[in-house]
Amino acid sequence: MIFAANFKMNHTRATTKAYLDVLAQKLVSKCSEDRVFIFPPATALDRYEGDFTIGVQNAYMAESGAYTGEIGLEQLEEFGIKTILIGHSERRDVLGEDQALVAEKFAYFKAQGFEIVYCIGEALEVREKGDEAVMAHLLSQFEGIDLSYEKLIIAYEPIWAIGTGRSATTEEISSTHASLKEHFDRPLLYGGSVKPENIKEITAIDGVDGVLVGSASLDVERFSEMIFA
Ligand code: PEP
Repeated sequence: MIFAANFKMNHTRATTKAYLDVLAQKLVSKCSEDRVFIFPPATALDRYEGDFTIGVQNAYMAESGAYTGEIGLEQLEEFGIKTILIGHSERRDVLGEDQALVAEKFAYFKAQGFEIVYCIGEALEVREKGDEAVMAHLLSQFEGIDLSYEKLIIAYEPIWAIGTGRSATTEEISSTHASLKEHFDRPLLYGGSVKPENIKEITAIDGVDGVLVGSASLDVERFSEMIFA
């Protein structure tokens, strides 16, 4: 199982360090094949010791240069960051990243050998149109994406389930994951209101290789409760 924590624009440098100190201690006693990823805000990137991988929530597809407000490869290399989240719905919908930009970022960071957690997901109005519309939408988010990339992890995150407290049902997750898996042979995470209360049910679903967690990952006790569940 893969457990990924997306802090979004939460936590400071100080609280991220405190969180990771606690997490590192907890993971010492966990001998397993599980993988843990933490995506803190860019201001808290650093070299941390522990049985987890630190990734960046976003970066620009250049080494450095005139891209005000962005960070690029040079800034990531300083901290040994080799993992990136690409295509999160908040970057697509709130920050206006279209599929062309998302695919450009993907190609750049693939060329740099990054491990990429690539997010896809549909809005509620698409879900309400039925399975066919959902799949058509999700497949459109694979445009320009090399699904055979060996360092690719895909995260299915229905937008209507993100930060709403309402997770997709077992049936919705199971059938969407099964349909998606016909198109690639890479790990597939589920994300959307995953929490300690539903982690066992979600990770038991066939075709779920792990979870991407937002809100419930912000508290190290709750996040580790999920890892140890
Ligand atoms: C996310 O934004 O990646 C996410 C899954 O958020 P939440 O767990 O809060 O729904």
